Amino acid sequence: MALSIPFRNTYARLPERLFARLPPTPVTAPRLLQLNLPLAEELGLDAAALASEAGVQALAGNLLPAGAEPIAQAYAGHQFGHFNPQLGDGRAILLGEVPGRDGQPRDLQLKGSGPTPWSRGGDGRAAVGPVLREYLISEAMHALGVPTTRALAAVASGEEVFRELPVPGAVLTRVASSHLRVGTFQYFAAREDVEALRTLADYALARHYPAAEGARGLLAAVAARQADLVAQWMLVGFIHGVMNTDNCAISGETIDYGPCAFMDSYSPETVFSSIDHAGRYRYGHQPRIAQWNLARLAEALLPVLGPDEDQAVAFAQQVLADYAQRFNTAWMAGLGRKIGLAEQREGDQALVQDLLLAMAEGAADFTLTFRAMADAACGQPAPLRALFSALPALEAWLPRWHARLAAEPMPEAARRAAMLAASPAVIPRNHLVEEALEAAAQRNDLAPFEALLAVVRRPFEAPADPRYTQPAPPGLGKYQTFCGT
Ligand code: AMP
Ligand code: MG
Repeated sequence: MALSIPFRNTYARLPERLFARLPPTPVTAPRLLQLNLPLAEELGLDAAALASEAGVQALAGNLLPAGAEPIAQAYAGHQFGHFNPQLGDGRAILLGEVPGRDGQPRDLQLKGSGPTPWSRGGDGRAAVGPVLREYLISEAMHALGVPTTRALAAVASGEEVFRELPVPGAVLTRVASSHLRVGTFQYFAAREDVEALRTLADYALARHYPAAEGARGLLAAVAARQADLVAQWMLVGFIHGVMNTDNCAISGETIDYGPCAFMDSYSPETVFSSIDHAGRYRYGHQPRIAQWNLARLAEALLPVLGPDEDQAVAFAQQVLADYAQRFNTAWMAGLGRKIGLAEQREGDQALVQDLLLAMAEGAADFTLTFRAMADAACGQPAPLRALFSALPALEAWLPRWHARLAAEPMPEAARRAAMLAASPAVIPRNHLVEEALEAAAQRNDLAPFEALLAVVRRPFEAPADPRYTQPAPPGLGKYQTFCGT
């Protein structure tokens, strides 16, 4: 029996020029690699049906579930600062929206589902390694409390895809609040299609920001969500790696897990992506890039921001200024929580900034440093000190911190608990991610992947096996990521 999902198809009801209608291209021998049971539960989907023969055929794109109306969405985007008017879903098919238990509809999209009119010479496929990478890292982000698209399933296709070498292919089922991007608006702005911009703005408002009004309200709401999102990335040491405008979701979810990675030793200059030569998307630059992307959204929305262009521009400029302020407030408050401050006082900004300088000087592991501070706040500074390769700046900083902590009203035990809740013990460590993906892709062994997944799903608990919390051994050299195709 074909899988039945209570799809709504609101996007497929929009004007035809916003997408192309086409089904996924079938694959030879689908095999379920991973099914996200907690997510299936949240979406009100029957996990047993998804794991059944018919379910796996549907997740592979071989069999359309009843009620699906498959489409590839049109979008454009600035890639590394250069505008491409024609990107679109080159290897993804939206099946429809699932209502979900919370009443919030979620897109169900197959990624790696074959060529579309937007494939631009690509094969429309995805490989097991990057598919599992997206699955793992998005689950880690979700567990860390960071808004993100998620993965419902990963299915091996039984086919080879050719990257530099032949590698096993796979299809990911991505779940997102929506797949609207800054680039979706840019596509229609570039075509001077004001009617489509209005339609899209209304659609985005209804779906994501029902309390906001008009295109101005939309712009302001998206900017606020981006400020909060990027602050959350920064607070867990996440580097997105490819913050192109087509990878900037209107919903405020993290989307596109190609070359992303978590920072180990702290440096604002950290870049992992092999193609990001200029460091455009380096850790410390992310807040400004998100603002740059919002400026591109404002430009795209300009024709619908009001009849007076000067006023519209002034409004957009104010939104961008508000973004910067909101980001800074969220970032500083978050850092404050990480160092045990429940209140914000004058001088706190300098205090956290000087800590970051000390961490950079000592090449201290970002995650372990903040975790060790919970003990250091209770008179056990040795584990914290041990994380720093150079100590002078830290030694100068510690007495200032203790003096500031003394002025906090929180009792010590409560403070310790708050600090441990603000700083995870576990991030997906780069070398462990690689190990897990290699075992899955090359030896068809999913055990390391599943073990790592279980640990990153409980990031605030110190795992029994210390391997999961330690940074890569120094011998491994510099970590590099690749745009995940
Ligand atoms: P991304 O780097 O994943 O953000 O993708 C940028 C653009 O390239 C999007 O339009 C994708 O749909 C397209 N793309 C990426 N990989 C492939 C592929 N293997 N086949 C076709 N299109 C692709
Ligand atoms: Mg993308």
